[in-house]
Amino acid sequence: MSPRVWLERPRGLLVILFLLTLVSMSVVGWFGWRLIQQDAIVDRQYARERLEQAADRTVVNLRAILREEPNFKLGPVFLVTPTSLIAEPPARLFYLPFPSADPEAPAATFAEGESLEFTQGQPESATTWYRRLAATQDPATRAGALLRLARTLRKSGRERDAVAVYKQLETMEGVQVAGTPAAIVAREALHELSKDDLLSGRWPLTRGQFEFYWSRVVPDDPPPAMPPDLEQAALLAWNERSRQADRGRATVWTNGHPSFLIWRDTAEGRILQVTTPAAILRSASSESTAITAIDSDGRIVAGSKTGIPRAAVRSASESQLPWALYVTQSNSGRNSAVLARQRYLLFAMVVMFAFLAAGTYFIARAIRHEIAVARLQSDFVSAVSHEFRSPLTSIRQLSEILALGRLPHEDRRHLYYRTLVSETERLQRLVEKLLNFGGMEAGKRQYHFEAVDAADLVENVTAEFEGQIAGSGRLIELHRAATRCCIEADREALSIALRNVVDNALKYSPEQPTVWVEWERENNSVAIRVRDQGPGIPACERKAIFHKFVRGSAATKAGVKGMGVGLAMVRHIMTAHGGEILVASEPGRGSTFTLLLPAMKEA
Ligand code: ADP
Repeated sequence: MSPRVWLERPRGLLVILFLLTLVSMSVVGWFGWRLIQQDAIVDRQYARERLEQAADRTVVNLRAILREEPNFKLGPVFLVTPTSLIAEPPARLFYLPFPSADPEAPAATFAEGESLEFTQGQPESATTWYRRLAATQDPATRAGALLRLARTLRKSGRERDAVAVYKQLETMEGVQVAGTPAAIVAREALHELSKDDLLSGRWPLTRGQFEFYWSRVVPDDPPPAMPPDLEQAALLAWNERSRQADRGRATVWTNGHPSFLIWRDTAEGRILQVTTPAAILRSASSESTAITAIDSDGRIVAGSKTGIPRAAVRSASESQLPWALYVTQSNSGRNSAVLARQRYLLFAMVVMFAFLAAGTYFIARAIRHEIAVARLQSDFVSAVSHEFRSPLTSIRQLSEILALGRLPHEDRRHLYYRTLVSETERLQRLVEKLLNFGGMEAGKRQYHFEAVDAADLVENVTAEFEGQIAGSGRLIELHRAATRCCIEADREALSIALRNVVDNALKYSPEQPTVWVEWERENNSVAIRVRDQGPGIPACERKAIFHKFVRGSAATKAGVKGMGVGLAMVRHIMTAHGGEILVASEPGRGSTFTLLLPAMKEA
């Protein structure tokens, strides 16, 4: 249906339909929009509830975490004594970021022995002196003496004795000699110092000492470095070792970064955990929860300011935690569910709109179609009336003249009778055409097939027109086929079809003298062609003219009479014969109608 058809009259029904659709769409759209809004409100409330629950859960978790310590997941744990710091487990800290506080005897303690050893050159006396000193109770002095004793023994070639002394020195923990743990020095001297000793973290070494011994034990590999945060944590633990309370927790700021200390004193020393508020909060909350913690001075110890306006707040006093908490939730999971729901809703609305629009379109189309059919039918009724009117008028006038004896001349009587006969025949043909058409439309037409020679058929049908064209100077020219063309057909029905097509050719080319009819065999078909030089048929009408009641624009413009049922009837007949009717036309130059029928197989 072309767009222009929609604008044709009557438009009222279509306008009402369009308005109804528009109103329905608006109502559906409005309800959909309200639904989405309601959904968003409910979702916001639900989200708030979840947030409050998450905040409560976080507080409970945090309290539990801060109660039980140490927790290695939260950060390094150290055992701190006034003189040492050992990481738990020790292997993690293989050097210390500060010098060891283990005691060492002052150099003056050994001055006398060293004078005997070096200045006076009396190694034997020095050995005796050191041995005596090594018997002292003070570990630092003893260690210093043992080291020097072993040295002098080794120098004087008493290797076995020297080894025995170094072995003693090796067992001494918590003392230094020459600024280094005594055990390390002894193991070095015994050539027993290994990579594992250095990495064990058992003896407090500075980084310089560690790297020095490493280069001696593993000269080929560069010394490993500890994670900087472990080093920093160790330094912090050492610096904060002397806090008063025997258990506690505190937030400590270093260079603008907050750390969190948790400690508890035990028999071996103070267990001290260094962590960050962020790490604690992380372990207390789920992944979708973001927490900002603020201390009593208003400093942010963890998290960022961004979520604070929408957060669920738990004050420090209320929660009995070291900080006030602002809990927010990253809503990705929930949002995607809402979005999915909204998307479904929108999709459902779009589908409804599409159905409404499609429904409206099809109803409008059906209305248009019904209007077009009604118009065609009314055109048909007026066309039939016109067709009948002129023969009836002639018959009536001539009958009146004859009945009243008002003949102008006696010679005319014969002519009038002839005219009465031909007009009555015309009326009969019209009635038969309508009856035939009605029968075919109702599917009541019975076909009786027999062998029909196309030449016979064409000659008989064209002969019927001789009387009609006699004296008009017009001619039906036949082009015979080279071979006999036989068709299995209902002779009468096929005659009706050909008659209609020839009648049209003559009717629509009144100014042209010749109409051509030819037939020939084409493969397995027989084609009967009727050609004229009439006005032709525009391409857009070439399909429609085969529908009932449809009359072409040229026909109506030229005022040619007709009922618009001829070609519909021809198509019925062709279909019943397993054939078809084709039209080729050049507007202004003429048309050719071809009846294409299956050829009969030669016996
Ligand atoms: P009608 O009674 O109008 O002739 P038909 O069904 O026989 O009805 O033809 C349908 C329409 O086809 C005609 O109204 C006319 O416009 C067109 N038509 C048919 N035959 C010809 C032809 N030979 N030349 C031009 N137009 C034709």
